[in-house]
Formats: sequence, structure tokens, C-alpha cells
Amino acid sequence: MAKSKFEYTRKFENNDSCLLNCFIVVRLDGRNFHRFSDSHEFEKPNDENALKLMNRCAEEVMKEFQDLILAYGQSDEYSFVFKRSTTLFNRRASKLMTNLASYFASSYVFYWSEYFKEKLQYPPTFDGRVVLYPTETNLKDYLSWRQADCHINNLYNTCFWKLVKIAGLSPEDAEKRLCGTVSGDKNEILFSEFNINYNNLPEMFRKGTVLLWEKAEKMVSKSKGDSTTVRVYPQVVMLHVDIIKDDFWESRPNLLI
Ligand code: ATP
Ligand code: ATP
Ligand code: MG
Ligand code: MG
Ligand code: MG
Ligand code: MG
Repeated sequence: MAKSKFEYTRKFENNDSCLLNCFIVVRLDGRNFHRFSDSHEFEKPNDENALKLMNRCAEEVMKEFQDLILAYGQSDEYSFVFKRSTTLFNRRASKLMTNLASYFASSYVFYWSEYFKEKLQYPPTFDGRVVLYPTETNLKDYLSWRQADCHINNLYNTCFWKLVKIAGLSPEDAEKRLCGTVSGDKNEILFSEFNINYNNLPEMFRKGTVLLWEKAEKMVSKSKGDSTTVRVYPQVVMLHVDIIKDDFWESRPNLLI
């Protein structure tokens, strides 16, 4: 096509391609989900269907962008990890981030009704950021940070909402009660006042969700007749496990390769 005299404006674009060999992480986070969760009457502190919808969207993102090797989600956020060698969108940060954010957000709307009976009140927004991690240790530490955040927030929120909903404290008083407490104190409050063993709460709430590819065997029937063969397909699997301890990584030595 002929060039127009306006085409020079393209030269104003930044080159934002990500450094080679680094793990590219895209973290998405719901915008003002404090309000969104109120408007849609999410159960506090953990609405199970809302978490399942987040997990579903992340699974669809993994399937759509298959250079993703791992995803970790909790609350209104999801982190997606691309394989080191990805060349998707020439590793351009803005392309990677906006494609993931828009696919995630449109999936959230597309699948909403499978998880909620009530109508969606307004379109949700997700922000995105790109972070590069040059070493496996940096990447594992990043994911550990997000999982530790999940644990700390969940323990706090579980106590807070028990104090408000069961003990009848005002939100202000519940906050005062928890101010300065360490995790042992919160475990003790849950146990002695509400007869709850924190470690028995659902793993999805305490640990968040990990998505990764695993080869799974599937029975496939041949076109003619009734004979079947076993084929191996990569499938996205969903886990609610500890990724801070080495076990997770040691039992999957090829995950980051
Ligand atoms: P920002 O736009 O800065 O991200 P935010 O209101 O989304 O603001 P976050 O720090 O991201 O703030 O926190 C998300 C909030 O969404 C939580 O504090 C919680 O109130 C709510 N939320 C998210 N997921 C759930 C869920 N599954 N069940 C109940 N509440 C949830
Ligand atoms: P990329 O992912 O690189 O953007 P693309 O297929 O979206 O690939 P574009 O250069 O963005 O390529 O072009 C958008 C294409 O979408 C057009 O070439 C056209 O085929 C189609 N398209 C967009 N809007 C319309 C429309 N209103 N009516 C018909 N076709 C449309
Ligand atoms: Mg925030
Ligand atoms: Mg948010
Ligand atoms: Mg958040
Ligand atoms: Mg296009």
C-alpha cells in the first residue's frame, strides 16, 4: 500500500519488547473490586463462585495463549507466566499485557452467568502490568510473595468477618481488635472464639489457585468400529497447593524449561 505523509507518526511508538531469556509475568487485578464485590453481593471474605469464575477465565487465557506455562490467582488477581523463549507478539509488553487483560475481562463477562444467577451490574475492568524475572529463583520468589499475600490477607479477613458477622462487632471495632495481632493470635481467636481450625478451611481460600499444563491420557474412539486408543493431550490442571516450599518445584523439574 502507498505510504501516506502521515505515516511518520508510527516512529513515535516505543519499542517495548521484553528482554530475551527472562520470564515474562503479566499480573492482572480487578479495578475497584471492593466496590464490585459489594455491588454483586460477594460472600465475605471468600465468595467461592467469584473465585471459580476467576479460575475459569485464567484457564481460558492459558488455552488461548499456549506459551503460558503457569498461572497463579487469588482474590481479584491473576499472574500469568510465559515460557522464557516465547516470541509471542515479538515479546512486546503492551501487546502481551493488553491481549491477556482484554481476553480475561471479556471471559469474565462471557462466563459470568455460569457462576452467578444474578445479573452483572456493570462491566468489570482489569488492570495489567508486566514484570520480567531473569532467574528461576526470582520467579519462584515472586510467586511465593503472591501466595504469602493470599495467606496473610485470608487469615486477617477470615478473623475480621467472624468478628463482624458472628461476634457482632462493628467493622471499626473488629479492625481495632486485630490491630497489632500476629498470625498466632489470629489462629487463636478463630479457634477459641469461633471453634474454627484455620488449617481446615478450603485450600482454595488459603493457598489460592495454580494452573499448569499436564499431559493427560484420553480414550479416543477410532472413526470406524468400536476400537479405542489412548492418546496423550496436554491439559490445564488446577491445583490449590503450596508453591512456596521446594516440593512443588522439585516434583515438576521441567515446569520452567
Ligand atoms: P484496586 O483497583 O486498587 O485493585 P480493589 O478494590 O480491587 O482496588 P484489591 O486490593 O485488589 O482492591 O482487593 C480486591 C478486593 O475485592 C478485596 O479486598 C475484596 O474486598 C474483594 N474481593 C475479591 N475477590 C473476592 C471474593 N472472591 N470474595 C469476596 N471478596 C472479594
Ligand atoms: P491483528 O491481531 O494483527 O490486529 P487483525 O486481523 O485484527 O490482526 P487488523 O489490521 O487489525 O488485523 O485489521 C482488522 C481486520 O478486521 C480488517 O482487515 C477487516 O478484515 C476486519 N474488520 C474490522 N472491522 C470490520 C468491519 N467493521 N467490517 C468488516 N470487517 C472488519
Ligand atoms: Mg490494589
Ligand atoms: Mg483490585
Ligand atoms: Mg487485588
Ligand atoms: Mg486487529
